[in-house]
Amino acid sequence: MLAYIGLGTNLGDRELNLRRALARLEELGSVRASSFRETDPVGVIDQPRFLNAAAELETELPPRELLERLLEIERELGRERATERRWGPRVIDLDLLLSGQEAIDEPGLTVPHPRLADRRFVLEPLCELNEDLTLPDGTRIRDLLGSQLE
Ligand code: ATP
Ligand code: CA
Ligand code: CA
Repeated sequence: MLAYIGLGTNLGDRELNLRRALARLEELGSVRASSFRETDPVGVIDQPRFLNAAAELETELPPRELLERLLEIERELGRERATERRWGPRVIDLDLLLSGQEAIDEPGLTVPHPRLADRRFVLEPLCELNEDLTLPDGTRIRDLLGSQLE
C-alpha cells in the first residue's frame, strides 16, 4: 500500500531535520521524497518559515500503526508536544496525509488528513510525487491545487 506523509519543520537545522525524518521513514518501507520547499507559516504567523516536503511510503503497516511510528519519530527528533503551541514552531511534524484509498475517521486518526485540501504546502509536494493522485472520493489532488485561492 502507498501512504503519503507530510513533513514540516521550522526550528533548528530544518534541512537536517527533514533528512533525519526521511532516513527513519526508510526503515518502515521504501520511500520517495519530494523536493523541499520553504513556506510561510499559516495560522500562527509570528514564527520562522517552514521547510516542507512530502514522502511516498510503500508499506504494509496499517494506518494506525503507521501514525504511531510517525509520532515516535517526532519524539526521537526532539519534538515536545507538552510545551508547544497549537500550530506553533516545531522541530518536526509528520502527518499521515493519505493511506492508500482508505477513509478513516476515528479518535486520534483521520485520513485523508482533514486540512490537506486547504494547504498548498501539502498539495504541491503530493502532486510532485504523483500527479494522478486522488483522494478516496475520487477528487484529484491536482484539481484541488488548481482551486487554491492563494
Ligand atoms: P494539523 O493537524 O492541522 O496539521 P498539527 O500537525 O500541528 O496540526 P499535531 O499537534 O501534530 O497537529 O497533531 C495532533 C493530533 O492529531 C495527533 O496527536 C494525532 O493523534 C492526530 N491526528 C489525527 N489524524 C492525523 C493524521 N492523519 N496525521 C497525523 N496526526 C493525526
Ligand atoms: Ca501538521
Ligand atoms: Ca501533526
